[in-house]
Amino acid sequence: MTFDQLRQEYSSCAKCPALCQSRTQVVFGAGNQQAEILLIGEAPGANEDKLGIPFCGMSGRVLNELLIAAGLSREDVFITNTILCRPENNRNPAKEEVENCGNRLDKLIEIMQPKVIVTIGNFATERILGKKGITALRGRVFETGGRKIVPVIHPANYLYSGRNPEMFMQMKKDFETVAEIIKEKEIIK
Ligand code: URA
Repeated sequence: MTFDQLRQEYSSCAKCPALCQSRTQVVFGAGNQQAEILLIGEAPGANEDKLGIPFCGMSGRVLNELLIAAGLSREDVFITNTILCRPENNRNPAKEEVENCGNRLDKLIEIMQPKVIVTIGNFATERILGKKGITALRGRVFETGGRKIVPVIHPANYLYSGRNPEMFMQMKKDFETVAEIIKEKEIIK
């Protein structure tokens, strides 16, 4: 299966009845399909649902800042979410919804073969690593199937914290780790 076939398959997905009601559109992802870095967030919010682009609101602005600070840009990454559709009132994704969308995420990873997966927040981290608790997991680099997994704090947590500077430093550090992994791989090649 190709990237475009996968996108096409999910463009009218009807697996989750509640999400079919709450979404305006399926937000498949954005960025470079050939990127070595795959970012996985939680779920589209109101802006994302409207525009069809992940992380295009306030959290996205923080994410852009973090990428730039690490010497990366949106062209170096592909961004998607744990679930592709906006839940009503931005509620947390239900377990069943994460499972329903999980097959799509597995297929995306198989097609893209990213060198690094950045799991943004608890939902993506739990889906990819099977571990809970982003506060304890961030700052560590995991490896599965020859691929590095870097859990990071969700920008929304940082915004809810009233832009805690210490949290921002941690997030910056974690994105620098991602950039370093990519640089090391380039040297080994
Ligand atoms: N938060 C997310 O987790 N994903 C988005 O696309 C936007 C905000």
